[in-house]
Amino acid sequence: MVLSLVCGGTTLARAPDAVIVHTARGETRIPLWSTPGTGPLLSAPALLNALGGAIEFRGAWAEVVLGSEPFRFLVGAPLLVHGSTVLPLSAPALMRGDTLFVPLQFVAEILPNRLGARFRWDIRESRLADDTPAPTVAAIAATSASSTPPPGANGLRRKHSIAIDPGHGGVDPGNPGIYFPRGIREKNVTLTIGLLLREELRRRGVGVRMTRTTDTLINLGHRGRICTDDCELFVSLHVNSLERRRGYTKVRGFETYFLAEAKTEEAARVARMENEAVRFDQDNTGEGDLNGLEFIMKDLQMNEYLRESARFAFLAQNSLGRVHTGDDRGVKQAVFQVLTTARRPAVLIELGYSTNPNDGKLLTRKASQRAIASSIADAIMTYLIEFERRAGFAGDTATGPSR
Ligand SMILES: [Zn+2]
Repeated sequence: MVLSLVCGGTTLARAPDAVIVHTARGETRIPLWSTPGTGPLLSAPALLNALGGAIEFRGAWAEVVLGSEPFRFLVGAPLLVHGSTVLPLSAPALMRGDTLFVPLQFVAEILPNRLGARFRWDIRESRLADDTPAPTVAAIAATSASSTPPPGANGLRRKHSIAIDPGHGGVDPGNPGIYFPRGIREKNVTLTIGLLLREELRRRGVGVRMTRTTDTLINLGHRGRICTDDCELFVSLHVNSLERRRGYTKVRGFETYFLAEAKTEEAARVARMENEAVRFDQDNTGEGDLNGLEFIMKDLQMNEYLRESARFAFLAQNSLGRVHTGDDRGVKQAVFQVLTTARRPAVLIELGYSTNPNDGKLLTRKASQRAIASSIADAIMTYLIEFERRAGFAGDTATGPSR
């Protein structure tokens, strides 16, 4: 029945113009692309973006990995290898530019047949349902922070690693969160969203290291040190708040900072507030902090990453704007101590205001927490794709960590 749709030129007119991928996280529409000789094809990176998974290219083969199941397409030839089984395809997988396109048959027939416990195909709706349950935060937290996913996901040619820094923790609760449900503080929200962001990035095949995965205190000066060498971006997550004053609960929204001299009094205020956490640092001697900041401000390494930091800040801010119901408060610059020790492009995102009732709900409800994490992951993917393009990784290089 399915084959009648995807096989043979005579039935192509009835082929859908898109497929819907349904997962626990929602639905994604993936358009189909057809050429006279091939029949309908869909972008493998788009499919993997929806399902989670990775692509690796090995010579003439493109390996699409879903969960622990590799499907090897011989690019340009109508066959697929799954396990030890060779499966004929109605049309070959093709490269279009840098993107692998696979036949509709892969989602309409092969996935439901080969991985029936996970995938169902609804021919009437052209819909692939992924029955994998969404992982719980506890399950995400239980997985090791150091495990690295396979490289090459979502069309990326290289393995990448991102540092996520959930702000505050342990004896430093961050801001008290007056509109958070009872007992929830800034440190809890940054950790929950940080762990969701890790999950979103892993689904997209990007390696993640966390400054913390539990309710512990990490010194400001130590946080950035996890992002050196092979780490490409440092993302610190925080929640804003305002002092009690007339109308202070009306202010809401999100803003992204990159490290540079504060341009406005408000940016300087937020930086002072987040830098306050230095008083919790166990080995803080109370001296040298300002000198250290001044020194780092003159450090050429900061300028080296300034452009990249600013670029990612814009991407993150735009992406958050698609899911955040609060005000887009823009990209800003300020000196955050946590960013000064990252020897890589680094940003600090204020995800919303705990002193606003709507932001308070947005930041503590599971669905919106996940949407926020997903939007930041989207920005990171865009950033990495741009980075690869700039760095000329289209054909990979000897410096690629694995292939
Ligand atoms: Zn904070």
